[in-house]
Amino acid sequence: MHPKLITSPSNPIIKDIKSLDQRKRRKETGLFLVEGLRSVIEGMELGASLKYIAYHTDSKEKEDIKRCVSYCNNCGGLALEVNDLVLEKISRKDNPQSVIGVFEQKFHKLSEINKNDTNRSYIVLEQVRDPGNLGTIIRTIDAVGADGVILIDQCCDPYSVECIRATMGSTFSVPIFTATLDEFKSWAKDWTGDIIGTTLQSSIDFREVTPKKPLLLMMGNEQAGLSEDLRGIATTCIRLPMNGRADSLNLSVATGICLYALLEPWK
Ligand code: SAM
Repeated sequence: MHPKLITSPSNPIIKDIKSLDQRKRRKETGLFLVEGLRSVIEGMELGASLKYIAYHTDSKEKEDIKRCVSYCNNCGGLALEVNDLVLEKISRKDNPQSVIGVFEQKFHKLSEINKNDTNRSYIVLEQVRDPGNLGTIIRTIDAVGADGVILIDQCCDPYSVECIRATMGSTFSVPIFTATLDEFKSWAKDWTGDIIGTTLQSSIDFREVTPKKPLLLMMGNEQAGLSEDLRGIATTCIRLPMNGRADSLNLSVATGICLYALLEPWK
């Protein structure tokens, strides 16, 4: 299908795309917004389903844009050639992007994880609330080469605009699993490797532990920390020493340090 030229920010398609900055609309449609050509190309290269591609009409002859349009058509999506006014409406205000993609969300179930694969490692996040933390953790999981993130109970939306920005395109390469606390506890019962919790109260320094594979690394909520329930199923709880006056580390920083410390010895 030929690209559709849209010049009015009040066009109904543009309004629909803009509405994806609301969690309710993302839930109803199963879609999410990706800003910037680099992240859109990342999604294409990893086979994500592209429903809309919107780009500035001045860039229509660029090879990358032509590739996006053809990929979008193959996904049954719609390519939109737009002007500055329209891009301003659907793009971020501080650093407007000239390409916006709308992709299908993908959530996985715990039953899809092969528990017998001893090379695997997953990061379990309990009620993570800050989308910037979640996006940074997804990017770090990608960087370190871990296998996915498991979101327990009510977490912030991994497909919010803030979270997607923080992932810098890694959202497409890190599978996102969701489960309730009870589902997770019963699924983890026959986990054959270590299930490592992180708590300020533990007396075990993170550098003392070499985990048995496959690994589940559990991180707690920004305010409440890791619940008693999850501490209860941990094979070990580790702590990052707090040597100054700060009483804890930011969740995404703590996750990054633990991931590199625990996974690097396996490489
Ligand atoms: N007030 C919370 C508590 O008592 O646990 C602080 C939560 S902390 C901001 C968020 C999460 O980051 C914690 O649940 C834990 O997973 C991890 N974390 C932060 N600092 C840590 C540390 N020094 N040792 C181990 N884990 C830490």
